Formats: sequence, structure tokens, C-alpha cells
Amino acid sequence: LTLRILARGFTDHEAKVLQYLLFPFRAELTWDSENVFDLIITKGAECRDEDNAQIVVPPSVINRAEDDRYCSKSSENGITTLPCDILDACIRQFQSVLNPKISLKYTLSTKLPFSYNIFPSSIRSRLLKLNRQGGEVNHDLSNHLLVENARKLLTQSFDMVGLPLERKAPASIYITHDVETERGLRSTASMKRIEEDLGLSSTWFIVSNEYRIKNEIIKDLADGSEIGSHDIRHDGRLIHVREFRTLVERLRTSRIHLEEKIGKPVKRFRSPLLQFSNLIINALEAAGYEEDFSLPCWEPVHPATMSSFGIEATQPIGFGNIVEHPLTLCQDHQLLNVLGLNTREANKLLIEQARIVNSFGGDIVLLVHPDYAYSQNLDDYRDLLTSLRQFQNIREMPCSPVASKAS
Ligand SMILES: [Zn+2]
Repeated sequence: LTLRILARGFTDHEAKVLQYLLFPFRAELTWDSENVFDLIITKGAECRDEDNAQIVVPPSVINRAEDDRYCSKSSENGITTLPCDILDACIRQFQSVLNPKISLKYTLSTKLPFSYNIFPSSIRSRLLKLNRQGGEVNHDLSNHLLVENARKLLTQSFDMVGLPLERKAPASIYITHDVETERGLRSTASMKRIEEDLGLSSTWFIVSNEYRIKNEIIKDLADGSEIGSHDIRHDGRLIHVREFRTLVERLRTSRIHLEEKIGKPVKRFRSPLLQFSNLIINALEAAGYEEDFSLPCWEPVHPATMSSFGIEATQPIGFGNIVEHPLTLCQDHQLLNVLGLNTREANKLLIEQARIVNSFGGDIVLLVHPDYAYSQNLDDYRDLLTSLRQFQNIREMPCSPVASKAS
């Protein structure tokens, strides 16, 4: 059953963010009071309406005399007031990921006439480490979930007026892999075998036009798992392509190349180094993709911005017709290469993060590269998957209703 919500008094930015927050749920916003609706959500002051339940989002700046009114969350008369302007903070968070500030260091290193891969990865990891501001980073994921906390306040207010929101699809676990090199591609089979043993399937994001892709390897991978695109080259330059048509062409080329190899549609994308922007998302849609996995929930040192980066949300977001699945667990590269953990220590941290994600009703999205240590420590990889599986009744990877629904 879809909840119909009449929204009143929101700016365009606020309305957009409200839609992002409500995306995972069976809920529909309307702005026209002539339409049929189940409840009202209002910005600013409550409006007089005795027949309908109402949720009030207070203004961002509250004057003192009105303090009491907005700090209490009462549900008398079917009205619930949120404790703060949750949309204001979320707008800034969405802006920061949709229009990221690309660091000069990143621009210089990825615009060199040769590929940044020419630097040994140990040097690159050390550069990233140097950029951890103030030494220690607080790795507790619960401190990096601003948007998800805002959503929690919002969903609680629906509970309080007696019209709880329901997720379109139950929370899922997505096991994903970015295959950076031909050597990585050769390590995929042993990891896939473990997943099959455990009854799991995963998505393999392949760089389409950089290394040799043996037909029998990619066909084996495509059998029972998803193949996604990891761009045509792993050169970190996607974010620098400012011309929309060039960008679309690049992304489409990658999709078609992979589709020809596997004889199946490729609908998923993850960009190298998790490059993300509004322009890339729009280009993905034009290039025929349906789902993107490039946006981190939170990354301590994001290469493109050289600072911490992420949407701080654990549930899918609809950007146009693209369903974005935030990478909710830290990727193995950050844990193994930047933080210097071994796979067993990384397991501990990942399981702790999964516990937090699960407590918010979010999707557990894991990224393990077959190019790094997990493909050598397969027992630890098995342990990790076994632990993650306990968190929920896994809806296995391929296409949950959320994923296949365009909105
Ligand atoms: Zn990659």
C-alpha cells in the first residue's frame, strides 16, 4: 500500500531531498491538495487541518520564543513536529557529493600524460595516508550517518502519526567486486566458488577496454552472477570529462563492449576510485544503465577529494531513473592499503559496520577487490561472508524490486 503525502511549504531543494529520503519506501509526494492524500507534511508552521495527520518540519532558524514548540515531539491532534530541520543539513550533504570539490593533487596526478597507475600502489596508499587530516580518523560508522539519521527521525514521525512507512524491498546484501587488472580477473574464480558454496551471488565490475578479458573467464563469472561496468579504463579521468556527449559515449562504449562479451544486458556501473558527480549520474542514465554503485556511504580518504567523502546514507537513492546503491561498508582497499589492516582485522571492522547498517534497516554493500589480499586469504573471505549472512534474510543480489523500479 502506497502512502500518499501532501507536501506544503517546501522549496524545490527541500522537496527534492524529501523525495530522496522517501525513495526506499512505498510513498508518493503530491503538491496539489486537490489530489487524494493520507497525510500532510509541512515546512514551517503547522497548518490547520483537523481531518488529516500532519508532520511538521520546523524552520532551520527557530526564534527563541518558539523554541518550546519545536523541541517537543508531540503527536496530540495527529500532529508530530520533528526536533530540527532535517532537510537543511541533508541538502548540504547531497550538494557535497553531487558537486564534489576535486582536489588539485588528484587533478594533477590523473591529468598527467601517463596513467596514475605508473606510481606503485604502495606510494599511492602512502599519499592517501598523508591526507588523513589530524592523524586519527574516527572510524565509527555511526558518526558518519547524517542523512540516515535524518531519515530515521522522519520515519519515526510517520510511526508517531500512526502511518508507518514500508520499504519497497526488504534490506539486501550486495556483494560487489571491482576487477582492476588481468591478474585480478584470474583470481575471481576461487572467490566465486566460495560465494556459490554459501549460496550467494555477487556483481563483478570489469574495466572493459584496458586489460585482456578472456572469454571463458568472463562467461564463467556471468554465469549466476552479475557483470557490471567499471568504466573503459581505470585512469581516474572520468570525473574530468566535462562534455556530456563524450561522457555518455565513454560509458555506453563500456556497456556495449561487456554485453558483447557475455551476451547479456549490463545494467550496473561502478566508477573507478568511486568518482561521483551529478554529471556522471545523468550520463549513466543516457548511456543505458539502471543502477550505480559508485557513491560511498562514507570513505575516510576519498581519492578525488583527498578528504572524507560520502552521502552518509545506507539505503538506495533515486537519482532520476538511476538507482544509487551507496557503498555502505568501507571498501577493502581503504582498510587493507590505507589503514594497513590485515584481512582478519578488516573482517572485524566490516562486521561492526554491517551491524550498524543493519540497525538502520539499510543495505549491506560490500566491495572486495580480487586484486588485493582477500583473494589470497580465502578462509578470511569465507568467514566474512558467513558473518555478513547472519544479519538478515538475504535477498540475493540480482534485482530486488527497488533495483528494477525506475521512478
Ligand atoms: Zn577500481
